[in-house]
Amino acid sequence: MNKLTVKDVEVAGKKVLVRCDFNVPMKDGKITDDNRIRAALPTVSYLLEKGAKVVLCSHLGRPKGEFNMKYTLRPVAERLNELLDGKVTFAEDIIGDDAHAKVAALKNGEAVLLENLRFHKEEEKNDEGFCRQLAEYCEVYVNDAFGTAHRAHASTAGVVQYGFVKIAVAGMLIAKELEIIGGALESANAPFVAVLGGAKVSDKIGVIGNLIGKVNTLLIGGGMAYTFLKASGYNVGKSLVEEDKIELAKELMQKAKENNVKLMLPVDAVVSKKFPDPIDDANVEVKTVAVSEIAEDEMGLDIGEKTAAMFFDAVVNANTVIWNGPMGVFENPILAKGTARVAEAMKQSSAVTIVGGGDSAAAIEQLGYKEHVTHISTGGGASLEFMEGKILPGVDCLNER
Ligand code: AMP
Repeated sequence: MNKLTVKDVEVAGKKVLVRCDFNVPMKDGKITDDNRIRAALPTVSYLLEKGAKVVLCSHLGRPKGEFNMKYTLRPVAERLNELLDGKVTFAEDIIGDDAHAKVAALKNGEAVLLENLRFHKEEEKNDEGFCRQLAEYCEVYVNDAFGTAHRAHASTAGVVQYGFVKIAVAGMLIAKELEIIGGALESANAPFVAVLGGAKVSDKIGVIGNLIGKVNTLLIGGGMAYTFLKASGYNVGKSLVEEDKIELAKELMQKAKENNVKLMLPVDAVVSKKFPDPIDDANVEVKTVAVSEIAEDEMGLDIGEKTAAMFFDAVVNANTVIWNGPMGVFENPILAKGTARVAEAMKQSSAVTIVGGGDSAAAIEQLGYKEHVTHISTGGGASLEFMEGKILPGVDCLNER
């Protein structure tokens, strides 16, 4: 990892602005899952123990640039305060009087959480004046919000990009993402296997393209497999197909061949005549067929057992595995078996196992495998862009080693 981290700089007695990802799920003003708050604790506790004056900031939901108390961060401040023994206060605004007063009153080893950054439209616009005002709160800037690192917003990159803060480092959460995902992309231990699934090829073209130059084996499942199967000449009935991506799928398969990458597509599929509605419909009628036997009125909704066994072997025998996207409609237990089989392989494998954020993370949690993988990324879009080899503004702006 070529970026400085919070452990590389002097923070005692200094004002430190930390961009966190406190975008937690809420219902009726209550936090329903505090994982993201807990995930920030290593960095925040470290700074408090070192005697920094800590100014925390985050977005929550999509308030579209206006104060909207539905999206207040107050419950997050209260939860943080419980977890950090009463060291956290809450500012009712971001660049207003309350925030200024509370930041000015901070003693060493205390923290204040500012109100939701996205109450100001200037945040997402990366407005220079807003960046200047945020930067007034700090001598050191820490980015620990991997989930928004692919965005160039005021708090994720702008404060540094405009030159208002000179010392800009990674928090521990971002450092871990860069070390593990970045490490795999730069110098993975072979065999390096990527498992890609999910709904659409179009969402993952960039990832497939980038990984073809790096992995030994590429396993393709989920809805996107059917575009590849159609491109290989199969009739896939009513399965999800992106017609305008068929040529691209052919090109990617050709590129894999040229790069000696073993690209494996499903050989069988769990099919149904209709998409389950509701999605977890326990009465959905399914059967397993070879991919050459999918009827006109059927759609593939999970990988079949033979495919699952092939994918299982590839993952168990790997030394590095990156996984992004479920193998089927995992929200329905009847259609979650392929995804569960890959998760089981990750558990049994001694490989470094990395799960991209978003739906893959949800799937692995839902199926109870969360503790059995090396790393689950905290960023959905950000981890995809990172795997595509794109530059993330929230990382790019940090000081080099
Ligand atoms: P993504 O966000 O691209 O990772 O896609 C995740 C979604 O893909 C989940 O909601 C799955 O239900 C869906 N999915 C997986 N396999 C299929 C399939 N064969 N057909 C339709 N949708 C699928």
